[in-house]
Amino acid sequence: MAPFIIASARLVHLNPSIKSNPNLLSATKSLFTFKSSYSPIVSSSSSSAVSMSYDKQLIAAKKAASLAARLCQKVQKGLLESDVQSKSDKSPVTVADYGSQVVVSFVLQRELPSQAFSLVAEEESGDLRKEESQETLGRITKLVNDTIANDGTYNVSPLSEADVLRIIDCGTSEGGSNGQHWVLDPIDGTKGFLRGDQYAIALGLLDEGKVVLGVLACPNLPLESIGSLKDQHALGKAGCLFSAQLSCGTYMESLDGSPPVKVHVSDTENPEDASFFESYEAAHSSHSLSGAIAKKLGVKAPPVRIDSQAKYGALSRGDGAIYLRFPNKGYREKIWDHAAGYIVIAEAGGVASDAGGKPLDFSKGRYLDLDTGIIVTNQKLMPALLKAVQDSLKEQALPSL
Ligand code: AMP
Ligand code: MG
Repeated sequence: MAPFIIASARLVHLNPSIKSNPNLLSATKSLFTFKSSYSPIVSSSSSSAVSMSYDKQLIAAKKAASLAARLCQKVQKGLLESDVQSKSDKSPVTVADYGSQVVVSFVLQRELPSQAFSLVAEEESGDLRKEESQETLGRITKLVNDTIANDGTYNVSPLSEADVLRIIDCGTSEGGSNGQHWVLDPIDGTKGFLRGDQYAIALGLLDEGKVVLGVLACPNLPLESIGSLKDQHALGKAGCLFSAQLSCGTYMESLDGSPPVKVHVSDTENPEDASFFESYEAAHSSHSLSGAIAKKLGVKAPPVRIDSQAKYGALSRGDGAIYLRFPNKGYREKIWDHAAGYIVIAEAGGVASDAGGKPLDFSKGRYLDLDTGIIVTNQKLMPALLKAVQDSLKEQALPSL
């Protein structure tokens, strides 16, 4: 389906352009020594003894997500340029999903060799171990090795297919409320990736069940605001990296390197000035319910519909003021779909909660337990938004006369 046929919404569409590796093996082994080697870094600049700095982890996370973004961009470019590749063919996305997960896991373990490593990530190697996936596994391995070699930071011998499978399975952690766990969606917004639209590499870190840092690499997100754009051809340069650390704010820089700038959510108090974001895919979030909520609140602008946690990134710099997400009843949200975005918004002065107003709880394992949906806005608008959400949900529950 062409992305521009829904006239009432502004849509941002863009075609932008261990063969026995001892270090990796030891990093992988560290999974099993997590408790004993867990050593928090205490900030020397902080007056509070319990105040933690995650500076080292943030640097590693930015490096990991940026490198994975390069891999994904290469795959997406090939997909969009290919004459023979059908857009409904899921294989490029499979290659990029796995490849991105391997790159992130590899970089984190290389950059933080003395720290225990636990990763909650979307992909696992089961399907790739099947006979029919041999060719795909070969493509992923080549893609990962090319990405690492082109970057030039790591002087390692190429990974074998067995290494790749093992590294993918570093992501099977259950997370939880104890210790530190990385949380990764290697490609968030798969459908957007296939369309040539928005997607994100989303990486967060949990410490004792709380998100303490987050990085969103959004290769197709324009550096300028997408909130007021009417013409998709006026998008300009794309490729944003958002990063946030607990109590340190949220920053944005370009993926190809620029000084980070501190960003802040919109401070509008007036819903009439507030535009809202939602999923491009109606199957992921009810467009009719969010439309009813926006109307009740007095929002005038049409929704901005884009894929992935790029929505959190765009909101953190004030492109819009509200993000509404209402999946079908029974759908269980995964922590990797929100962890990075949650702290990117919180550190930019915003707030994300479930539809009942409760903060999102990332301490319960791979899933989020929440009431009905996810709503995001600034502190001032939240009370009015919550009321509009509650009223709209009540109305929706009433039998129509
Ligand atoms: P978005 O692009 O914001 O719609 O979100 C993309 C994410 O939605 C994907 O990474 C999936 O994990 C998640 N997803 C997949 N199916 C559903 C569904 N039925 N409802 C809500 N979210 C979904
Ligand atoms: Mg996802």
